[in-house]
Amino acid sequence: EASRPQNFLTEIVERDLAAGLDGGQVVTRFPPEPNGYLHIGHAKSILLNFGLARQYGGRTHLRFDDTNPTKEEVEYVESIEADVRWLGGDWGEHLHFASDYFERMYACAERLILEGKAFVDTQSQEEIREQRGSFERPGVESPFRNRPAAESLDLFRRMRAGEFPDGACVLRARIDMAHENVLLRDPLLYRIRHAHHHRTGDAWCIYPMYDYAHPLEDAFEGVTHSICTLEFESNRALYDWVLDNLGPWSPRPRQYEFARLALGYTVMSKRKLLRLVEEGRVAGWDDPRMPTLAGLRRRGVTPEALRDFAELIGVAKNNSVVDIGKFEFAIRGDLEARAPRALAVLNPLPVTITTWPADRVESLELPWWPLEPARGGRQVPFGRELLVEREDFSEDPPADWKRLAPGREVRLAGGYVVKCDEVVRGAGGEVIGLRCSHDPASLADAGRKVAGGTLNWVHAPSAVAAPVRLYDRLFTVEQPDAVEDFLTVLNPDSLRVAAGARLEPALAAAEPGSRWQFLRQGYFFADPVESRPGAPVWNRTITLKDTWAA
Ligand code: ATP
Ligand code: MG
Ligand code: MG
Repeated sequence: EASRPQNFLTEIVERDLAAGLDGGQVVTRFPPEPNGYLHIGHAKSILLNFGLARQYGGRTHLRFDDTNPTKEEVEYVESIEADVRWLGGDWGEHLHFASDYFERMYACAERLILEGKAFVDTQSQEEIREQRGSFERPGVESPFRNRPAAESLDLFRRMRAGEFPDGACVLRARIDMAHENVLLRDPLLYRIRHAHHHRTGDAWCIYPMYDYAHPLEDAFEGVTHSICTLEFESNRALYDWVLDNLGPWSPRPRQYEFARLALGYTVMSKRKLLRLVEEGRVAGWDDPRMPTLAGLRRRGVTPEALRDFAELIGVAKNNSVVDIGKFEFAIRGDLEARAPRALAVLNPLPVTITTWPADRVESLELPWWPLEPARGGRQVPFGRELLVEREDFSEDPPADWKRLAPGREVRLAGGYVVKCDEVVRGAGGEVIGLRCSHDPASLADAGRKVAGGTLNWVHAPSAVAAPVRLYDRLFTVEQPDAVEDFLTVLNPDSLRVAAGARLEPALAAAEPGSRWQFLRQGYFFADPVESRPGAPVWNRTITLKDTWAA
């Protein structure tokens, strides 16, 4: 392993290994609920869990926490497997489903009942909620709390048999209604849900609650370090209660919490992502603007960039919103090393080189990697009719203008130095083109100073048109979650299509799924879904300018 990140979790693992706990094993798990697509927050958890186990020679299970029948679907199971694999997560034989343990969990519940540690409560959910109390106020015991075990057992079996409608009764742990931790005040263990489950079908009509099911899933699988996000800190006492009352276990899993990832200019709750999809605010779960792994992949982000990002931000114990600039920095750093440089003009302004003969086309040999020409290059045609970016010309430039202007010289990247002699106007006086002259000696003189810098350009007659989609942040504010209705702060310009874009001819052959830098414009990805052979569709992964520096 090349890099061995250190954080408070690696310290815990090393301490446990040194103490000879768990027979020297490290077993972690990634336990998604299959109720949506994975997002970048999940990526952090995946990389953490799989990374930790790999670092210490252990293993990681992929476990679907499918204990809630109403929101889960097979489509999500499949997408999650693909996403975890894409990130490099290898679960080997250990693909598990919590629903496979329903029978064992049920047996554990009967044991709790028989030992006087659980009871069936026939009050309404509403009454139970009111009796729970609060941090300041102790709870009120259920009138059914001391019901004989045999009676609870009978009721529980009839719950399972389907004799009662949803909500008629629940199984509760019998712990302490005055406990300072509200979660330990006789929490619900099972509820009735007459619902079809995507794997168990109609075999069950009672389903275990997360706080009861999760520790058992971990224990059944021999998980040693059960890592979850900070919101579950108070649930840990219940996690331990369940395991302590249903053991012995070897190994005995232990829960640890870390800060969930929150990223600026993004929402991550699956409920909100689902709304974006269902209301058509985006094109789907894999829309390149989505923070889903499917969306990031479609945008052109690589698993390596996600890994670099995870290492950059580390593993924290307090929640905070991570600067999206850090994520963008990681993406650029990754693409910088893997994207050849090509020429494209997104918003063309025609340029005529008046000093160039109309019928002459010169083929320039340009390297894909200007700093490493030995890695190869391609032929780029240069002629009398060219295109440059409209934004690179100003008729009345500010003092620090480093681009094209009347009387100003620029270098056309990899080509000649040209000078703007004349502006061509349309009927309304608007600029519709430029007339420039070129310096024939400048091609061989790469060191020649020009006031206007170097511009991207293409040769108009041979350039190819292609759909180029310019993606930007999905929200206009850093914390859309803090706004009452997050849909009101959607960025109306999160997708613009550069309809007139023209690309150098070599890009017509770009493979779907390949990554390129369009000089001065950003990193672009040939969309793997919509591209056709010889006709790529382009997604801008990211612009070139960092807002955050290491
Ligand atoms: P959401 O709240 O968005 O619905 P979730 O937490 O309910 O997400 P799960 O499918 O239960 O989603 O999550 C699977 C695992 O991923 C859990 O262990 C959870 O802690 C972890 N996880 C989810 N979101 C984040 C996040 N933003 N940062 C780090 N880990 C996360
Ligand atoms: Mg969850
Ligand atoms: Mg959740």
